[in-house]
Amino acid sequence: MRRNRTTSRVGDKNLSPTFYAREVRSHLNLGWGPINPRHVCDALAIRYFEDDLGASGNEAGALVCTESGRLGIVVNRSILYAPRRRFTIAHELGHACIPTHSDLEKWCVAGDIEAFRSDRIIEREANEFAAEFLMPERTVRERLKREPPSIDVFTRVADEFGTSLTSTACRVVSLADHDPCAVVLSSGGHVNWLVASRPFRRIVDPLGKGDTLSSETAAARVMAGEMFSNVIYVVPVEAWLRRWPSNMNTINEQVIQFPRFGSTLSFLDFSTIDDDWLDVD
Ligand SMILES: [Zn+2]
Repeated sequence: MRRNRTTSRVGDKNLSPTFYAREVRSHLNLGWGPINPRHVCDALAIRYFEDDLGASGNEAGALVCTESGRLGIVVNRSILYAPRRRFTIAHELGHACIPTHSDLEKWCVAGDIEAFRSDRIIEREANEFAAEFLMPERTVRERLKREPPSIDVFTRVADEFGTSLTSTACRVVSLADHDPCAVVLSSGGHVNWLVASRPFRRIVDPLGKGDTLSSETAAARVMAGEMFSNVIYVVPVEAWLRRWPSNMNTINEQVIQFPRFGSTLSFLDFSTIDDDWLDVD
């Protein structure tokens, strides 16, 4: 399995994680809809099992070699949130199917999975594989032709594909080539990460990882109990941006709160788009 049977081209180290995810879907005739990664393990003769790896859930999963010499995927039993478990399995399938990922028995930690901002290339590649494998670009782009990104879209796509709201929001926004928008995870008064569409970055320069969260953001005010989740607020541009067009004054922000984790997910977009903004390089 490791030097994958799905295609004769997998030995090419220049191919992308997305390519391998599509190859596995194609090899197994999975089409472009929702899939169950547990069933994929069975189809690829990879043993799947769960184990106690500590209640913190920090050690999320690993690719292992079983006693019988088969490839196996182990996932921390303490991961109770099904979408997170599914993404972890898909992430480990990425390690199994990307030829340059040769290390077995190394734990993948929760902070590197789904966050899309791991400092480790191999973990980012496994996440890229998992994102394409669970939410194919082709299917997401079809959705975006019918409706622009919104919290409502993220929720419906997440429900349909069995993915988390956070990973779905990142996936949809990163493929939104016609809509200036971004999603931001914040906690402890700081920005954990920000994923923006290409048009968003062409128009403005947003805050990034580690930046202090302005008290003017809806995220900070929701955390302080001054504003509500799931309401679209209009906030000053300087709350979220370092640079913006001179005639832009406000930005829309809708917040989903995750009280258990002390974090918020903000969706940012603009009420009106001046076509001239999109022409700026
Ligand atoms: Zn990993």
